[in-house]
Amino acid sequence: MESIANKPFGLLVIGSGPAGVHAAASYVEAGGPGRVCLVSDDADAPYERPPLSKTVLAGEEPAEGSPILDDDSVWSRIDRRLGTYVEALDTDRRQVRTSQGDELSYDRLIVATGSRPSALPGADPDSRVFTLRSLEHARSLVDAVEGARSVVVVGSGFIGCEAAASLASRGLRPILVTPEPVPQAARLGDWVGSRITEWLESAGVELRPGVKVDKVEQPASVHLEDGSVIEADLVLAAVGVTQSQGFLAESGLLVEDDHLAVDAQLRTSDPHVWAAGDVARARHAVLGRSLSVEHWGDAITMGQLAGSNAAAQGPDGSGSSAEWTDPPGFWSEIGGHTLKYSAWGDGFEQFRVVEHPDEAFTVWYADAGGEVVGVLTHERDEDYERGTELLSRRASLTEALGDSAPEKSS
Ligand SMILES: Cc1cc2nc3c(=O)[nH]c(=O)nc-3n(C[C@H](O)[C@H](O)[C@H](O)COP(=O)(O)OP(=O)(O)OC[C@H]3O[C@@H](n4cnc5c(N)ncnc54)[C@H](O)[C@@H]3O)c2cc1C
Repeated sequence: MESIANKPFGLLVIGSGPAGVHAAASYVEAGGPGRVCLVSDDADAPYERPPLSKTVLAGEEPAEGSPILDDDSVWSRIDRRLGTYVEALDTDRRQVRTSQGDELSYDRLIVATGSRPSALPGADPDSRVFTLRSLEHARSLVDAVEGARSVVVVGSGFIGCEAAASLASRGLRPILVTPEPVPQAARLGDWVGSRITEWLESAGVELRPGVKVDKVEQPASVHLEDGSVIEADLVLAAVGVTQSQGFLAESGLLVEDDHLAVDAQLRTSDPHVWAAGDVARARHAVLGRSLSVEHWGDAITMGQLAGSNAAAQGPDGSGSSAEWTDPPGFWSEIGGHTLKYSAWGDGFEQFRVVEHPDEAFTVWYADAGGEVVGVLTHERDEDYERGTELLSRRASLTEALGDSAPEKSS
């Protein structure tokens, strides 16, 4: 095996999503020692994913990719190896091996390998089933959609809902198939699911709720468990993501639920390795328990934290480290409607809906003890800001509701 790096990199980062790019940049900005190298199997220069299911799929902007980092003065100091897949990690030798057979040595490593789309069970591998994670996926999907008349979207998570609404705005009439009674019922509750249903329907999406896909046959015949068959030109599978990767499972690093387990300083079970973004299951310093989140802004925050903590670590492992304290947050745009959601993300026992003029609303989520565990807003940014502050203080639902008269509850 050829060794192309006899001298270890001060920092090696795996992944060119927001966590990896911001980890590398903040290490450089914090004056971390040694050369910095970022390796990613994505061949495109780092780009923003959120527009892919929104403006790009809607045809409002080309599938070219908006850059994650504009700052050339930082970016030019990072050795980038794009289109390079990491297939093995040896934490004893502090080396990774790439699919080209190269070995890269490091003093410090940040794993930011994110998520990959889950495959649709029962789909013939030669059928026209697409997924949407990367810019390359978006290009293929946009090409396929150009000549299509009918498309089935499977899954009513945020990506499925956003994509279905975007495809509808291109003039298609997408059919969205989901086992949920209404979109996002488990995550956000039935009341919010019903609002999303209305938005999707008025955008031109047809919903098939409460039914699973049994199989997809070539070219794109979607067989549902209720016995019906939808003949489509193509299928977009938005059925969730996985963080699982063979090289992580075999690395000896502590893995929990397919994520890399890290402490509140984002350090893994190995003192030379940190993890950030979707791949990490991190202990939250305020909450006192571990969370895994799949949000763009949190990936940036965690990447910056991992990069500056890695830069601060001395050769003997000493050095001051900061902790992950921000409540996780997410936003979504479905058919022109924006939702902002901040929550610990591990469930709720009760919720209260407060409706405001002009169809704006706020939903407060709480645990069984009445502590606020999430807030969701539509056109009510002040409640979103207040909600993140209440989450940070672990405040009660009673305080969150204040004088407002809740109109719906569960
Ligand atoms: C279409 C779409 C729309 C979204 N919209 C929103 C939104 O509106 N709001 C929001 O908060 N979040 C949104 N998200 C989620 C958000 O994009 C993710 O949470 C975020 O990208 C996670 O960042 P990350 O850096 O942890 O991982 P990723 O962005 O997944 O990046 C991981 C990187 O690691 C690379 N990699 C993986 N394995 C290897 C390997 N073995 N070797 C080398 N490289 C590897 C990948 O190629 C990739 O570059 C959206 C996601 C998608 C797909």
